[in-house]
Amino acid sequence: MHAYAVQDSTGMVKLDAMENPFALPPELQAALGARLGAVAVNRYPGPRVDDLKAALARYVDLPAGCSLMLGNGSDELISLLTLACDLPGATVLAPLPGFVMYAMSAQLQGLKFVGVPLTVDFELDEPAMLAALREHRPAITYIAYPNNPTANLWNADSIRRLIAEAASFGGLVVMDEAYQPFSPRSWLDEIRADPAANANVLLMRTLSKFGLAGVRLGYMVGPQALVHEIDKLRPPYNVSVLNAECALFALEHAEVFAQQAQQICEQRAVLIDALGQTPGFQAFPSEANMVLVRVPDAQRCFDSLKAQGILVKNVSKMHPLLTHCLRLTVGTPSENALLIRALQTPP
Ligand SMILES: *Cc1c(COP(=O)(O)O)cnc(C)c1O
Repeated sequence: MHAYAVQDSTGMVKLDAMENPFALPPELQAALGARLGAVAVNRYPGPRVDDLKAALARYVDLPAGCSLMLGNGSDELISLLTLACDLPGATVLAPLPGFVMYAMSAQLQGLKFVGVPLTVDFELDEPAMLAALREHRPAITYIAYPNNPTANLWNADSIRRLIAEAASFGGLVVMDEAYQPFSPRSWLDEIRADPAANANVLLMRTLSKFGLAGVRLGYMVGPQALVHEIDKLRPPYNVSVLNAECALFALEHAEVFAQQAQQICEQRAVLIDALGQTPGFQAFPSEANMVLVRVPDAQRCFDSLKAQGILVKNVSKMHPLLTHCLRLTVGTPSENALLIRALQTPP
């Protein structure tokens, strides 16, 4: 294994990590500074963390019978879930290509990881998924909704059948909604509509793609009894007073972030349209703040963008289905204009 690599982005247009490209407006920066300055950093985190849980519960309109727990980013929640399911022979399953931390966390903890390839157009291969569920009876199945790096939402009927199959042997299904701010659908509506069919489902979200990637705040919603068990594995004080205050502040100004997400969705359409008009490029549909694009030569295109001061993610070696694919994070209008011009400049 190697440690999670973060590309050096000093001085670059940073379109590699699905961050929100908009900084906080100056008046909110000042207000946040004052709030953080007043936080009792000499004390261990206390009731403010409960205030944040209550604010998030209101924000998501927590379904009846569910509770919510916090993580230091959803990465920590993934680790806690792996720890919770770490019994001899336990398996973690996820479609591939997918979010790397599912496999990495399983391997670090000594669990078996089973990856099931998507179809060539990045849909769930339902028969293959069902067969893998029956064969491996995974303790955890991850469904990223939308998926990273393919940016699409999978068929809800297929997902319902996978959840039912996992339920038949007591397996958990984690719906990872990291990209919820940009997505037209949420599994939370399914949970509300049919709690019984989703009794083995945990829904995970993060404030990272929302606009607080630097803050580290993830949360997980699920049936009370289930969340209660996983919460036992959480290190005390895993969410700092600064994370909590910052997240509370952001939720108080949720409309600012919603407006940014709206702009990002508009820019996503602009970017997909421009890519569609570029000969040799194939952009895939997106319900997230990234666009997966197949180009004639991924390495050359990546290097050319980098030479022009733009950092994207070359995912072409991540999985055979991603041959010659780059993942572009949707930026501000001016960043996207630069990106489009640079992509259309022959290397
Ligand atoms: C970015 C991402 C996360 C990680 O979120 P953090 O809260 O920043 O740890 C989780 N899941 C998916 C699918 C992601 O793309």
